[in-house]
Amino acid sequence: MEEEKIIRFIRNKIHIKNAGVLMGPGDDTAVISYDSRHYLLLTADSIVENVHFTRDKATFFQVGRKAMAVNLSDIAAMGGIPLYALVSVGLPEGSLKLVSGLMRGMEKMAGTYGFDIVGGNLSRAPFIFIDVSMAGKVEKKYLKLRSGAGAGDDIYVTGVLGGTILGKHLDPKPRIEEGRKILRSVPVTAMMDISDGLSSDLERLAVASGRGFRIFLDSIPVSAAARRMSSCREEAVGHALNDGEDYELLFTVPGKFRDRVPERVGRMPVTRIGEITRDKVFEGVSGSGTFRMRPSGFSHF
Ligand SMILES: [Mg+2]
Repeated sequence: MEEEKIIRFIRNKIHIKNAGVLMGPGDDTAVISYDSRHYLLLTADSIVENVHFTRDKATFFQVGRKAMAVNLSDIAAMGGIPLYALVSVGLPEGSLKLVSGLMRGMEKMAGTYGFDIVGGNLSRAPFIFIDVSMAGKVEKKYLKLRSGAGAGDDIYVTGVLGGTILGKHLDPKPRIEEGRKILRSVPVTAMMDISDGLSSDLERLAVASGRGFRIFLDSIPVSAAARRMSSCREEAVGHALNDGEDYELLFTVPGKFRDRVPERVGRMPVTRIGEITRDKVFEGVSGSGTFRMRPSGFSHF
């Protein structure tokens, strides 16, 4: 994937000098030493006109809300809670009136998730972009990296997957509270959020952990939207595997704790979808056989 190549190039050019940086680029957020009980989490993400939204299909309230949600999802992926956000907005000439909708969407998320927007920047730009930097914190014992999965661990996802283009992509629900409830009830070994599609993101988690995976294709929780878009179960599972923007959590738990993993948190289902393998193979298993998985989720380039 082209995107992976560019990220690898950038990562190789970065040399971390401060011992307080425990995790630089390479996970859902950076991890920085904070106080005796917590780590600081830092992340950034942007929403760009005609890449992530178009003016005819999204309101600016929805765009503002989504700009915060994608960052909140990365904080959730580390087991953390959000603290502060900085917002840089680029606007074409004559579009200052859009700011009101954007701000309402962003402030709505700040109220719901309990963080503050503490600064930012406004710039003239040829198209609309909103770039959010977010800080959060996590108790040291709850920090979850992508790299902690062990051979034989069960793989779980929250919620239902796929078909996000039919609406969810404009109203993602970052799993901050749900993720923390799961962390309090069971020893999770690795976690990330699903932003680019289950197949791509599960491969990233397995690679970061130096392992492979076997996924049970018949157990994948397929959304009603993905089913509406499909003429058969196989096609719907394809959407669940490869559509981006689910913003659900993907995590692993050693098999001996299977009984302690909740079946749902509130109304959100938690589903076991596979296992981490010692060998670095990427396999899908269904009633009709075993397949080699090729990640084909969303790539930005
Ligand atoms: Mg992420």
